[in-house]
This record gives sequence, structure tokens and C-alpha cells, in this order.
Amino acid sequence: MEKSALVLGAGGFIGGHIANKLKKEGFWVRGVDVKHNEHQGLLVDDFVIGDLRDPRVVEKVIDRDFDELYQLAADMGGAGYIFTGENDANVMHNSALINMNVAHEATLRKVKKLFYSSSACMYPERNQLDPDNPNLAEDSAYPAEPDSEYGWEKLFSERLFLAFQRNYGLNVRIARFHNIFGPFGTWRGGKEKAPAAMCRKVAEAPDGGEIEIWGDGNQTRSFLYIDECLEGVRRLMDSDFIGPVNIGSDEMVSINQLAKYAMESSGKNLSFKHIAGPQGVRGRNSDNRLIKEKLNWAPNQPLKVGIAKTYKWIEDQLKSNV
Ligand code: NAD
Repeated sequence: MEKSALVLGAGGFIGGHIANKLKKEGFWVRGVDVKHNEHQGLLVDDFVIGDLRDPRVVEKVIDRDFDELYQLAADMGGAGYIFTGENDANVMHNSALINMNVAHEATLRKVKKLFYSSSACMYPERNQLDPDNPNLAEDSAYPAEPDSEYGWEKLFSERLFLAFQRNYGLNVRIARFHNIFGPFGTWRGGKEKAPAAMCRKVAEAPDGGEIEIWGDGNQTRSFLYIDECLEGVRRLMDSDFIGPVNIGSDEMVSINQLAKYAMESSGKNLSFKHIAGPQGVRGRNSDNRLIKEKLNWAPNQPLKVGIAKTYKWIEDQLKSNV
């Protein structure tokens, strides 16, 4: 019989990709979001526009014992959204409500397997002060000290889903995503993250011009291309490992290096101007020991390959938007 999947947040970047992947794999797929997916056409069988903060909407969309449920809906954005402090109440309130509604209804409806996307932002700030030696092993999460309310909400919701698993047998899988990027992601408007923002700035700049970088650019991060993220999610769902497990790249680069890759993709020659701006922690990198041990797999595509593909997509968006 055809398997069924529900993708919450299918109007978004990762949810849209997951929904299309599941459809291609032969699932019957329902997507749900407050908005349509503005960047990629969805192949889903059913798409519901609804606000998942409302328990009546969640009751309506989780109307059967789905084989797989992917909970990706969240009030989120890049550093310009998460670290300014202006959106803290919304981020915590909106995402926590969604997760509470979903955990409750998925249990009632006996959903067979549920994926929850947590984030590297839940790791303690104290382990991410040294840009060269961050510690993001899964078991370093406690004592908790995330540097943003977004991270605290993720930590709360990880625990929420794990509690439903222990008390009610909800079959969960939890991943901590580390900076996922690629085509069809948010690339302007204030919620975009560093790789897309950098590609956009480079694409907009004239050859010989200048782009702005928040901070000194020596803060480090790793970035995972969307295709490898999808493969990690699929492997986790097919495994018996509950998680939480990091799904991220361990190719750590500085933000200046990220900007250089975007510049190389463009063929332009640009200079960087460092300005004050929200930056988050000083250093972050995915620790992939656990995923290798449990799933016998880890991502390995070089960052510059993914940046080149993303740059091309953003350049095309800009051209078609003029
Ligand atoms: P996204 O913002 O593109 O997608 C999230 C979607 O949730 C959006 O389409 C949004 O409209 C929807 N949504 C928000 N509030 C809603 C509501 N009340 N009802 C219905 N839908 C609602 O983000 P994304 O990058 O695709 O991220 C997906 C998930 O992965 C999120 O939970 C995010 O926190 C997590 N995550 C992403 C990254 C990353 O680098 N992209 C990193 C770590 C964790």
C-alpha cells in the first residue's frame, strides 16, 4: 500500500525539498504551511494553508496515522532575525505552540514515525567562544546555555518530543541541523542566512565593487548543502536511532572564506568591508562522530561546490526579478 507522509512547514526551504523528495519516493504527501512555497513548485498530493499554532488546524491536518510526519514548521530566520532580540517572544511562543500541538495530536492519531528538526543553536554558548575549537558533540548540550531564545525553544521541544516518546511511545527521530543552504532557500527580506545573503550581496555588486560583512569575518561556521541534509534525514528516519544527532558539515570555514567562495562563483573581483552587525557565537562546527557511528554515514561534499550551485540560483532569481 502507498505510504503516507505529512510535511509541516512545506512552504519553507527544507520542508519543500523534503515534500518533493518523499513524493518522488512514492509517498502520498500532504504539505502544510501558513504560506505557499514561493520558491519551488511542490509535487504534493494535498497542500493545506493553515496556522499550526491553532490546535484545531493541527487536529484537521493530522487526520490519520501517517507513516511519516516531518515537523519543520518554525518561526525562524538567520542572524538578522534571531540575534537582534526583537523577535524573541514570537520565536519562543510560536514555535513552542506548534510543537506542543503536534506532539499531542501525533500521539492521539498514532502517527508511526515523527521527525523533528532541532538546531545547532541549542548548544551552549561557552563551547563556541573559540573560533578554532568549538565543541558541538551531542553530549555537550548540558548544562544548557544557548545564546538565543531560538536555541532555548529548540532545546525545550527536543525534550518535549523525547518525553512523548518515553511516556506515550511516540516514535521520534531528532536531528540538530547545522546551517543548511541551497537553491529555493530564503535569500532576501531579513530572514536569509549567511550563505544566501553572501551570494546575494556578491551577485548584486558590480565587478570591482565592495560587499559588507557583519563583524570581522573571522567567526567560523560550517554549512551543509540541502541534498546532503535530505540524505541525512532519510537515513535517520530509516534507522533505529532516536537522536538527537547532528546533521551538518564538518568543513569549518570563516565567514570571510564563505564570502570568497561566493565571489569565486561569480568570477568578480570584490573587496570586503567589515561592519557592525549581529554575528552569533564565535565558532561553530558540526561534530560528526555520532552520526558516523550510528548511521555509518556523514556528509562530505566540499562547501564551494554547494555555494557555486546556490550562487547560480540566486543570480538567476535576481535576473528574473528586475
Ligand atoms: P523556513 O523558514 O524556510 O521554513 C519554516 C516554515 O515554517 C516556513 O515556511 C513558515 O511559513 C512555516 N511556519 C512558521 N510558522 C508557522 C505556523 N504558525 N503555521 C504553519 N507554518 C508555519 O526554514 P527552514 O530553513 O526550511 O527550516 C526548517 C526547520 O529546520 C525549522 O524548524 C528550523 O528551525 C530548522 N533548522 C533549519 C536550519 C537551516 O539552516 N535552514 C538550521 C537549523 C534548524
